[in-house]
Amino acid sequence: MEDQRDEELEGINEDYGLVPIDEEILTWAKNACRDIYDFLPMFFDIKIVMAKLEKGTLGKFRSETESSPIVILCPKNIKKSVKEQRVSMELAVLTTVYHEIGHAFYKLCINSEVDVPADEEDFAEEFARSIWESGCLSYETTELLSKIIPD
Ligand SMILES: [Zn+2]
Repeated sequence: MEDQRDEELEGINEDYGLVPIDEEILTWAKNACRDIYDFLPMFFDIKIVMAKLEKGTLGKFRSETESSPIVILCPKNIKKSVKEQRVSMELAVLTTVYHEIGHAFYKLCINSEVDVPADEEDFAEEFARSIWESGCLSYETTELLSKIIPD
């Protein structure tokens, strides 16, 4: 699996350009990963990488890494957003990581042939909002989860 990840990292570097790790962002991102693990233990091995993303894009889920998700964060865009939206670094990073893992979860559902809502972007946003605001998974996500992992 590490080999596969090295390949992904090379791909990300080619596609976007990796940038040095921002320690403050990484710390918050790790907190987000811990929260996710509490709810969705299948995501025990989330890899956070930092790269230069297009304007306005704070994060990206690396497609086809849902079994072992890679989340790309853009430190420059995150800092810009924190400043412009006047939100905390914690909010910006946690909601971004949650959102990107929402995409990974959506893909897992599709892979398990579980019916998902049509709009993936809305799903990821709702997934993130629910964890951030209420500290738990939305009803919808919990239902889907029960279909992926039967009791
Ligand atoms: Zn998204």
